[in-house]
Amino acid sequence: MNEFYPLPGCRIGEVTSLDLAHLSVAADRKFASSRCPDCGHSSDAVHSYYSRWPADLPSAGQQVCLELRLRRFYCRNTDCARRTFAERLPHLLAPHARRTHRLAAAQGKVGVSLGGEAGARLLQHLGMPASGDTVLRLIRRLPLPTTAPPRILGVDDWARRKGRAYGTILVDLQRRRVVDLLPDRTSTVLTDWLQRRHAIKVVVRDRSTEYARGIALGAPRAKQVVDRWHLLGNVRQMVERWLAGVHARLRKLPGVAAPDEQVPRRRRIFPRTRSETAAALGRRARRLALYEEIRRRFNSGEALLAIGRAMGLARGTVRRYACAESFPERASEKLRPSILDPYLARLEARHAQGCKNALELWRELRTLGYPGGPRQVRRWLQARGTVVTTTPPQCSRDEAGDKPAEDTANAAPALPSSRQLAWLIVRPRDEISAAERATLARLELDRQAGGVIGLVQRFVALVRKSGVGQTPVRHAQLAAYGEWLADAVSSDVDAVRTFAAGLEQDGAAVRAALTMPWSSGQAEGQINKLKLLKRQTYGRASLDLLRRRMLLAA
Ligand SMILES: [Zn+2]
Repeated sequence: MNEFYPLPGCRIGEVTSLDLAHLSVAADRKFASSRCPDCGHSSDAVHSYYSRWPADLPSAGQQVCLELRLRRFYCRNTDCARRTFAERLPHLLAPHARRTHRLAAAQGKVGVSLGGEAGARLLQHLGMPASGDTVLRLIRRLPLPTTAPPRILGVDDWARRKGRAYGTILVDLQRRRVVDLLPDRTSTVLTDWLQRRHAIKVVVRDRSTEYARGIALGAPRAKQVVDRWHLLGNVRQMVERWLAGVHARLRKLPGVAAPDEQVPRRRRIFPRTRSETAAALGRRARRLALYEEIRRRFNSGEALLAIGRAMGLARGTVRRYACAESFPERASEKLRPSILDPYLARLEARHAQGCKNALELWRELRTLGYPGGPRQVRRWLQARGTVVTTTPPQCSRDEAGDKPAEDTANAAPALPSSRQLAWLIVRPRDEISAAERATLARLELDRQAGGVIGLVQRFVALVRKSGVGQTPVRHAQLAAYGEWLADAVSSDVDAVRTFAAGLEQDGAAVRAALTMPWSSGQAEGQINKLKLLKRQTYGRASLDLLRRRMLLAA
């Protein structure tokens, strides 16, 4: 029995099936004597017997409750102040605990993955029920993993409350795991954290002066590197602001003809994932149960108002259901515009090149300005297996590009927004479509815009090329940056000059970014994981809990 159901330090007695779902396992301690917790003297003089009923891991789906018959001993050591003591089972459970160590660990781990409420729901099915609050408490009790101190550290901020409170996420860029979350993004907190870690050689950060100061004070010998992802973001924002100021002038530029291109379109809604289908079925079942209950009460003569009050429903809902002769099904989904639509051409192209990884595709789209999450991309990828998306559209959509050119023959064609143009400018030229190239060519008809675009694209190329190791390459890279800087500071556009001056204030870290392989782009992925964990706890996660879950899940 003990091999089949090991209970450390115990001898198993009778096993009773209470009902189909509950099992009781009676056991007592193996040894005749026990040691006094105060003086350590062994005693076999039994004072009395008592029982404990802790919950244990389930057995073949049945909830297990242990019935431990334990003893209280006399301490015979005359020097000891204690007269009696209870025997303990340190490997099985803590004094006064209502669950064994191993059950607590299993419930805590479920909580790490799912959070309090969802964890509690799963645990119910697994035969080890616990309330959401208990699950949260057990997560707090799990020991944090001990890991080697990071050498290459990525520092980035993340929104604790979007627009209001920000924290700092610290990522070990070599091991690709989160090492800590800090409660804010001030230099003092970062300094304090860094001073307790001495192995750090390189810190990759954004251009925040707070972080720069925090690192300089906390890890003065570490090399600071500006994150390339952030550099690209900075230059894009600069050009977007500049475009916003001159957009009216650029709108008047004549259109430049682009060779005809077939724009891929969707003809169907994105298919649902299995979990979404399951959730939809669950919602339907709940609505159906609601409908049947309302009809039952209504037919037995209850008033609408009373039904609504009894069931906690709005009067409109009650009336709608009470009056429906049959269950009102939800309307099926319509084909709506998707935020993914502008990127379909790009997705098609990458798919044709053999890229079938949704996350990778999503990350690429992100750099192009796609504002959504990876789920839509995954759905597209699923649908891509069965749907030919390059066929002409069946339902026409209201897009500027659809309108025939004759309509607007007199006026200049529409120009994308400053934001869209900024994204277009920072994208590598060989990745953009013929129509987009035509838009850029149109902008370049303006002498000043041509100058800005040229400078921005040179900078982007430098940043994208960085990280390739050999010394001559690094020297060439730095020389090219020097030339770019000279051109940028003598530009006739204020925004460009200010941007270049800003880079020079952080010069060493920017040059390091152009010559070192490290980038905290992966912090972005970790921040997404963080958002997921944050959402699962329905906003009531304290930072401490979030931090634990993040570190335990890493
Ligand atoms: Zn004692």
